[in-house]
Amino acid sequence: MENYDVVVVGGGPTGLVTAGLLARAGVRVLVAERRVHRGDRPKAVVLHAPTLELLDGLGLLDDVLARSIPLERFAFRVNGAGTFTAEMTGMDSHLDGYRNLPQPILEGLLEKYALEYGAHIERGVAYLSHEANDSGISVRFEGRDDVRCSYLVGGDGPRSAVREALGVAMTGRSLTTSYLLVEGVPQELVGRTEVGVHVGEHGMVTMMPIPGDQVLVAGPAVSGLALERDAEVPWSRIAEAIETLGFGSRLRLAEAVRTSHYSVDLRVADRLVAGRVALAGDAAHLNTPAGGQGLNLGIGDAVALSWRIFAALKKDDPNLLLGYDEERREFAAKVGRTTFLAPLIERIRTADETTRPALQNELDELALCWSQLYPVEENWRGGHYELGVGARVPSRIRAAGKLLPFLDPGDRIDGSTLLWFDGTESGAVENGSSLPPVRVEAGSSLPPVRDVRRVPAPAGDRVTVPEGAQGVLVRPDRRVARVL
Ligand SMILES: Cc1cc2nc3c(=O)[nH]c(=O)nc-3n(C[C@H](O)[C@H](O)[C@H](O)COP(=O)(O)OP(=O)(O)OC[C@H]3O[C@@H](n4cnc5c(N)ncnc54)[C@H](O)[C@@H]3O)c2cc1C
Repeated sequence: MENYDVVVVGGGPTGLVTAGLLARAGVRVLVAERRVHRGDRPKAVVLHAPTLELLDGLGLLDDVLARSIPLERFAFRVNGAGTFTAEMTGMDSHLDGYRNLPQPILEGLLEKYALEYGAHIERGVAYLSHEANDSGISVRFEGRDDVRCSYLVGGDGPRSAVREALGVAMTGRSLTTSYLLVEGVPQELVGRTEVGVHVGEHGMVTMMPIPGDQVLVAGPAVSGLALERDAEVPWSRIAEAIETLGFGSRLRLAEAVRTSHYSVDLRVADRLVAGRVALAGDAAHLNTPAGGQGLNLGIGDAVALSWRIFAALKKDDPNLLLGYDEERREFAAKVGRTTFLAPLIERIRTADETTRPALQNELDELALCWSQLYPVEENWRGGHYELGVGARVPSRIRAAGKLLPFLDPGDRIDGSTLLWFDGTESGAVENGSSLPPVRVEAGSSLPPVRDVRRVPAPAGDRVTVPEGAQGVLVRPDRRVARVL
């Protein structure tokens, strides 16, 4: 039987990033993807700063910048009652704001990266079942022979067969709506620096600029329209649904190019890890499309999982995956909550001068959460995000409006970084390999320290260090493992 270290089921963004990072670290990976061809139907478009930083680390940033549109905010436009905004700029990253890039283009880039580092990607191959024992897993497929592997990743989307085989339930709820999408050329000029969320008396429609002077019109959410997952939706059906919401000519398209739809769920799997098997991406959690969180969340899972699988392989200890389960389930649940916008939208729709400031404050906080740059609630200390254990370490720190270099992105999952605070305010980062090495305890999933950097002690507008800290030990997924 053919042997791999890791089999990844599903060649969507989550599976491809997992495979790419593992292959880069020298792990033998097979990606089994059921679809023979990548589809071009509209799906996710929004890439937030952590995803862009990762793409930078993978060396794909130039391609992404050339093919995407830079955006600054989500603007909630209420008929006759002005605008509320979730501003996505001014945060702690060298890739400020967000970018709109159609998902099929992103998948093409991620696949290229994974192949370049030697991942095997097989299309037209569907996972059927697996059998696990203490030494490894045998996986059965349709479309190829069985494979033996040490770890199995279910990155196989919302109807995950791997999740079903594990008997893991998705807890949460399904909203009884079909969410319709159409890509095309707008009839009227639209702002190119914002995603417009148009809130009306009878519902909401989102208009997202995408490359090629086109837009992706997402919504309306149509109740009771039970569409099969792959069913074609006629453009006339979407146009009619938009028209009934009463926004007039602003949301009309001169030409519709592609349509799609999906049903909206708010769910998180009860477990993400079962022995040597882990779930990631849409196989692990589902949320509404608000704020463009789903794809970014899946890519975050891939980063959080791949270094742990690497450690588990090295130390032959599947228990090193357990931290992934707790951490990512909690994060997915938190992000999921911020995508259920119905109550907020209703308050925006009926806002008046007295409720306006509090609502705008709420949107300012929502923007921080949607950016996925500041993921851990315990790290918030009176308006500051503290680089304590679990906090995400920024690529740049914003201080007095200026961005100072901090931790550059990379694509290595086989080493940790020691950041040593030396108190300079200059923003210079020095390679400080002369500093004494910090030991990583046996039995920890944390890989050895490979990079030691001297950085200015962060006294940013938003990011600070715990009192008395001399440095932090940073995991490959940029989270603080230990405060020194
Ligand atoms: C129409 C649509 C619109 C969306 N819009 C947005 C949006 O605006 N914003 C947002 O954030 N998110 C959106 N999403 C969600 C977003 O696309 C997902 O969060 C993202 O694709 C998750 O990536 P993934 O790799 O985890 O799963 P997927 O992209 O679903 O990839 C899973 C892969 O596994 C493969 N597969 C499934 N079963 C098997 C099997 N048995 N064997 C082998 N392969 C298998 C599938 O073919 C697929 O390629 C949208 C989704 C859809 C469908």
